Amino acid sequence: MAEDASEADLTMDVAYLRKTWDHILQESKRQPAPALLYQDLSLAQRVLRDFVSEETACIHIDSRENFQKLNEFAQSYTPSVISKLTHYTGERPLFDLYGVEEEIERALGRRVDLKSGGYLIIEQTEAMTTIDVNTGSYVTGRNFDDTIFKTNLEAAHAIARQLRLRNLGGIIILDFIDMENVEHRAAVLSELHKALARDRTKTTISDFSALGLVEVTRKRTRESLANVLCEPCPACHGKGIVKTPRTIAYDILRELLREAKQFNPREFRILASQLVIDLFLEEESQHLAMLGDFIGKPISLQVESSYHQEQYDIILM
Ligand SMILES: [Zn+2]
Repeated sequence: MAEDASEADLTMDVAYLRKTWDHILQESKRQPAPALLYQDLSLAQRVLRDFVSEETACIHIDSRENFQKLNEFAQSYTPSVISKLTHYTGERPLFDLYGVEEEIERALGRRVDLKSGGYLIIEQTEAMTTIDVNTGSYVTGRNFDDTIFKTNLEAAHAIARQLRLRNLGGIIILDFIDMENVEHRAAVLSELHKALARDRTKTTISDFSALGLVEVTRKRTRESLANVLCEPCPACHGKGIVKTPRTIAYDILRELLREAKQFNPREFRILASQLVIDLFLEEESQHLAMLGDFIGKPISLQVESSYHQEQYDIILM
């Protein structure tokens, strides 16, 4: 299934290239004078070339300049879309009008809700992506198998959509809800094949492994949406967890003790985030006072509002 589709894509691409090339040849014959043969396409032109299909109903453009450029471009290369181009002159920004902002937020989130009440959890790491399928609520009774089957079928569609939306490439591990029924498994797999056949990007799909996982490989094209729009969290560097303020407070006390053995300043000053300093002022104030007595030096505190939770410095005064 998937192979047929990629072949169709390829034929389309070849046809497109041939058309473009024929056009350039004709143009160059018609005009012996120097003519522009090649020019980098703008983002808008590439979108028009790569993403517009028969299924596209309408293309709204909110800039008059771009609208005119795209009209010219379409006249030369994709005449069928000219009737779909419209110049949007409304008051409300297009992104607001069509909820694009929210759609992007959803496409960056870990959780994707399914209509049936189930949901996907998508984890993207450098090495691979994992997608976990979950039923919404605790499922029991006679309809147990049926509910799980339906959720997995719906998940197969949602997964295909998310792979395109997020432009996820490389290895993608799918953890569907366990199904005892062999026919149900086959049906979910076939649904996944069908849903991914629409994908322009080449994908391969494995059978269910002994552990009940399905492995999908999808050709990496451009960067994933998350890599384009986001960067690793500076506080946790992508780990997704940070040490608690109390753990940091104890780290600081131990570090202070080490430094007191090496150096002999008049005073120590702790620079840390608000939460950590608050702990030293309240619940951990006794520990701090005991350490001060032990090393025989005053210890002062200073909130550094730009510091994230794990960040601190000990200054020798
Ligand atoms: Zn983080």
